[in-house]
Amino acid sequence: DRKKLSKLRKTPAVTKDGTAITLLANIELPEDCPPALEAGAMGVGLFRSEFLFMGRTGPAHKLPSEDEQFESYRKAVTAMKGRPVTIRTLDIGADKPLDTVEHTALNPALGLRAIRFCLAEPQMFLAQLRAILRASAYGPIKLLIPMLAHAFEIDQSLAMVEQAKAQLRDAGKKFDPLIQVGAMIEIPAAALTLPLFVKRMDFLSIGTNDLIQYTLAIDRADHEVAHLYNPLHPAVIYLLASTIATASKAGVPVSVCGEMAGDIKLTRLLLGMGLREFSMHPTQLLAVKQEILNSDLNEIAPHMRKILKAMEPAAIAAAVEQLRGI
Ligand code: PEP
Ligand code: MG
Repeated sequence: DRKKLSKLRKTPAVTKDGTAITLLANIELPEDCPPALEAGAMGVGLFRSEFLFMGRTGPAHKLPSEDEQFESYRKAVTAMKGRPVTIRTLDIGADKPLDTVEHTALNPALGLRAIRFCLAEPQMFLAQLRAILRASAYGPIKLLIPMLAHAFEIDQSLAMVEQAKAQLRDAGKKFDPLIQVGAMIEIPAAALTLPLFVKRMDFLSIGTNDLIQYTLAIDRADHEVAHLYNPLHPAVIYLLASTIATASKAGVPVSVCGEMAGDIKLTRLLLGMGLREFSMHPTQLLAVKQEILNSDLNEIAPHMRKILKAMEPAAIAAAVEQLRGI
């Protein structure tokens, strides 16, 4: 089966009715780029930059410098040979702690994590923004901000991007002045106030891992509640469908980069919601592509109204299962 899938590496991801779908890779380090290309990735939809900051030992037991980060980002965008690379700014805290930072939050998942931490540490954040901007002189890079919930956080983040650009201009360093900046939609409050985001951002990426965690109030890393972690909970389906619909209507590109994007049992559901961009672990890319090649949006469409209106979990599960069989 692996062999059969590998034949699809260069096949364009197009549904039976002729709709082109963008399939991107999630990576943690620049070294993940060659295997992503090998799996046919059209770009990187999520570079989890915190992995450059985690697990650091020895004398370099500190945050990576701007230059060190720049080299990593440049290496990734060069390796992708002209394909877009979306770099997410530092998303530390909760399930991704740093050894170099004292995490003292009473509840790490609800504490000073991700963009909240970055806005509280402006020098560190500016260094990362400069490193990403400098790498954008070497290939198409997009900037993705995690865990935004408030309009003022978006505005502060965008102002800091402009500040980093001004610093680079003063230093005579090259960057892409039109770099696109996007938001992770992974807090229910963000999904429920999407007009604030589409107005301010160039693109959106839905982080279903955290969106499910925060919608259902279950720690995504806690085995004792793992049985409650249900991507098909009607509340999750509602938030996903409305986010995709609102963004699409506003003409703002939207992707899903959480685990749901790489689950072939959910590919048709997401297509039916209007999703055209999926980012996932590279090992899932070819299987999802195969599912897309076998899917017809015209056949999926009539099933969607029922799924989006359903409340009973058994009815939703049955309808999603039925979608797989059409
Ligand atoms: C997510 O939350 O869905 C996501 C893609 O980011 P992470 O898993 O790194 O939190
Ligand atoms: Mg997340």
